[in-house]
Amino acid sequence: MVEMESLRKELREMERYREAAQLVQLDIETVCPSGGMEEEAEIAAFLEKKEYLLRREAGYEKDVLSLHEKYDELSELEKILSDTVYDRYLKEKNISPEKAHEFSLVEKKAYMNWRKAYDESDFGLFKESLSEVIRNKKEKSSLRILSPDEEGTFDSIYDMVLDENEKGFRVRQLDKIFNDCFAGVTDIKDRILKSDKKIRTDFLSRKVSDEIQRKTAEYIADVLGFDREKGSLIIAKHAFSDRISRYNVRITTYFDPALFTSNIFSVLHETGHALFELLQPEENFEYYISDNKTQGMHEAVARFFENIIGRSEGFIHYIYPALKELMPEALSDVSEREFYEAVNYVSPSFIRTDADEVTYSLHIIIRYELEKKLFSGELKIDDLPEEWNRLYEKYLGIRPGNDREGVLQDVHWSSSFGYFPTYLLGNIYSAAFYSVLQKDMDVDSVLRNGKINEITGWLKERVFYKADRLAPAEWIKDITGKELSASDYVSYLDRKYSLIYGI
Ligand SMILES: [Zn+2]
Repeated sequence: MVEMESLRKELREMERYREAAQLVQLDIETVCPSGGMEEEAEIAAFLEKKEYLLRREAGYEKDVLSLHEKYDELSELEKILSDTVYDRYLKEKNISPEKAHEFSLVEKKAYMNWRKAYDESDFGLFKESLSEVIRNKKEKSSLRILSPDEEGTFDSIYDMVLDENEKGFRVRQLDKIFNDCFAGVTDIKDRILKSDKKIRTDFLSRKVSDEIQRKTAEYIADVLGFDREKGSLIIAKHAFSDRISRYNVRITTYFDPALFTSNIFSVLHETGHALFELLQPEENFEYYISDNKTQGMHEAVARFFENIIGRSEGFIHYIYPALKELMPEALSDVSEREFYEAVNYVSPSFIRTDADEVTYSLHIIIRYELEKKLFSGELKIDDLPEEWNRLYEKYLGIRPGNDREGVLQDVHWSSSFGYFPTYLLGNIYSAAFYSVLQKDMDVDSVLRNGKINEITGWLKERVFYKADRLAPAEWIKDITGKELSASDYVSYLDRKYSLIYGI
């Protein structure tokens, strides 16, 4: 089909601009000297704009519409591609390039104001930008053209914002899943806090040199089967991962001087993201659908490796001898059991990114509740810090002492809303597919013997294969045969932590 051919050619060109922009962005976040930052940021913005303008060209739009009309004549993969490009077309059609530029300026300014507010721990410096960002999101949603399938399915603007982040989700459905999760997690947390189990954590802050940390990071990536011909591991200021092109991914890690294990779990997490990219079907690239994975899907895989695998008894058993050999100063007087318990220690804390597996969900549920109220107008921006603190006290029993350890801790609200829920959905998805994996193999024994490739192979077939072809809830249903719910996640936590804490 001639439109399909020309569309693919156009997408190829856009992809090149995006890949180039990503490379520049990677440079900015890793090795770019401070004097070069501003210009590199301009280069990245220039390339992104080029990509955007190509998408707004009349020829491209004509191809998108024409394929949508001939939908019935398309093959399965062509249909997915057509849906993908048409969906984006509907979202962008009414946003002029000037408007798009205006939106991005607001976010740039909001980021700078957030940074300043964070450094000074003063919410007042950020609040104006925050209300501008919310206004932006509302305007953007009002400009979106709805497809016939979507008409009448959104009950609120926040519903649309959620859908932008995790396709197909609505507040009424998420409320149910998150309420169940909240009840289950709160019960587990309360039982843990009442237990008299003592967990030793003193050794976690022992000094480990950068050189040994680097070797540890490489060891962990190798255990997961990270292919160094297709990806590299970089030491940076924070942990993230990026796919540059088909067989070219980058993962980064950082060393926290006060917690040497954070490097291990960052590498597990980011390698999870990278494997998801590298092990997807070849045709996803031929049909330009490889970026259809949602944030929640991606987090599911990353958190699966970080927590379900990485913090499991079997995996710790397998890696512990090597860790002890790598860092004898830190671990010589620590038993395997003590190490396993330490990396699963549960304690309410202020900062989301430092949270343990059990209390993590509560950090997200607090943000979700606040986002809904900010969008409905029920919560005024001025009252946000107090409401944040009140919810932390209510759900976690701790009250932040300042804005920096409270409402200002995350950068997200300088550019996005509806994003936090995808983190918790990721956890919930990961437990859902873990419940199937456990039926298919003896996971503990596979891990104890270090045969991670058996698990990766299973993921490739059962989890990765359809990720770009289905919306998240359908994807999980395809894997588990059940509707998505919080039950697998809550039972996973319950089983694991009942044993650790003897509760
Ligand atoms: Zn992640």
